[in-house]
Amino acid sequence: MHSVTILGATGSIGVSTLDVISQHPEKYSIFALTGCRQLEKLAQQSVQHSAKFAVVTDELSAKKLSILIQELKGSTEVIFGKDALSEVARSNQVDIVMAAIVGAEGLLPTLSAVESGKKVLLANKESLVMAGSIFMAAVKQNGATLLPIDSEHNAIFQCLPQDYSDGDRSSIKKLILSASGGPFRTWDTAKIAMATPAQACAHPNWSMGNKISVDSASMMNKGLECIEAKWLFDTSMDRIDVLIHPQSIVHSLVQYVDGSVMAQLGNPDMRTPIAYGLAWPKRLPSGVADLNLSEIAQLSFEPPDIEKFPCLQIAYDAAKEGGDAPAILNAANEIAVEAFLDGRIGFTAIPKVVEKTLDSFDFYEPQSLAAVQDSDSRARAAARSLIKRLEF
Ligand code: NDP
Ligand code: MG
Repeated sequence: MHSVTILGATGSIGVSTLDVISQHPEKYSIFALTGCRQLEKLAQQSVQHSAKFAVVTDELSAKKLSILIQELKGSTEVIFGKDALSEVARSNQVDIVMAAIVGAEGLLPTLSAVESGKKVLLANKESLVMAGSIFMAAVKQNGATLLPIDSEHNAIFQCLPQDYSDGDRSSIKKLILSASGGPFRTWDTAKIAMATPAQACAHPNWSMGNKISVDSASMMNKGLECIEAKWLFDTSMDRIDVLIHPQSIVHSLVQYVDGSVMAQLGNPDMRTPIAYGLAWPKRLPSGVADLNLSEIAQLSFEPPDIEKFPCLQIAYDAAKEGGDAPAILNAANEIAVEAFLDGRIGFTAIPKVVEKTLDSFDFYEPQSLAAVQDSDSRARAAARSLIKRLEF
C-alpha cells in the first residue's frame, strides 16, 4: 500500500489522479489532499478518500472546510498555510506526491517533496521553468524519483533508452515534443486578436485547468514544456524540437542517431501518464479507452507557426538566455494570463506583456531559491505595471 499526497487535488490533474487511485484501492491510500478555492469539492474528496489531512491556503477557508467535512461526517483533519502544504508533501508517512498545483505556488511544496526523497509525479511544469537548476540538483542530492506527468515528457520518458539517466546521451539526436496547436491553430491573426477567454479555454482535445488552456492557445505551454524538457532530460535547447500534431495521439517522440524514431501513442487522457507515474516501473490499468487507430484513420503533422504564436519563440529565447530569464518569463506570463482571463487585456497582449517584461530585466544566475523568488516577484510587479500603464 502506497500513501499519496495530491497537491492540487481539486484541479483537473488532481481529479484524474483520484480517479486512477480509486480504481486501485488495494494499492494506494490518500494521506493528504490540497486545494484553494473549491472547498466543497475538497471536502467531498477528503471524505470519499478518507484523507488524513486536507490543506487550504488560509484560516477562513480552513474553518469553512472543517464545517463542510463535519457535515459529511468525515474525520479528515484540516490544516492551512504554505508550511502546511510543504508539511504534507514531506511527511514521512507519504510515499508518493502528485505535484499538481498550478503556477509558481507549486514550487515550494514540490521542492519539499523532492528534498525529502519522495517519488514525485511532476505535473507542475512551472517549478522546473522557474528553478530548474536548483530543482534538479535537489532531486539528485536527495535521491528523489522524479516522474514526468506532462503528457509529452511522460511520452519521452517512456521512449528513452533505459541507460539514459546513467549519462550516455550519444544515441539520441532530438527530443520532439508534439503540440496540438490549440484552439486557434487554424485562426488568422485578426481573429486571434479578438479571442475571448472562453474560446481560449476550449481546447480541442484536452480538458484542463484555465491557465494551462490559455497557455496552450498561445503556445506558451509548448515553450514552457521545451524548458521543462531541457531540465528533465538534461539536454540543450538545440536538441529539442516542436511538432504540431492536431490529433494529440502521438504524445512525443525521440529521434535516435540510427534513424529510428520512438513515439508513445494513446488517447488524449491524462490518466495514462498519471497511472504510469503511480505504478512506475510497473504498469496499471488507468480507465482510459483503448486506442483505435483505424477509427482515427489519419494522423497529421506540421511545423509550428512562430509568427502567429510568438510565445513559443519568446520562451525559447528565454531558455537560451538562461539564468533567471525563464523565471521572469513564467511570472510575466502568469500575470498576463490572469489579466486576459479577467478581461483586462486582449489575447495578443499576452506575448507583448511577457516580452516587454523580459526586456526590462538584466538577467543573472540565481544561486538560491530566495533569489529565484525575488526575480519572480520583481517580474510580477513589472508585468502588472505594464498592464496598468499600457493600453493593450
Ligand atoms: P487546475 O487549475 O485545474 O488546478 C489547479 C490546482 O491548484 C487546484 O487544485 C487549485 O485549487 C490549486 N491552486 C490554485 N491556486 C493555488 C494556490 N495559490 N495555492 C495552492 N493551491 C492552488 O490546473 P490543472 O490541473 O490543469 O494543472 C495543474 C498543473 O499541472 C499545472 O502546472 C499544469 O501546467 C500542469 N499540467 C496540467 C495538465 C492537464 O491536463 N490539466 C497537463 C500537463 C500539465 P482550487 O481549484 O481549489 O482553487
Ligand atoms: Mg503537455
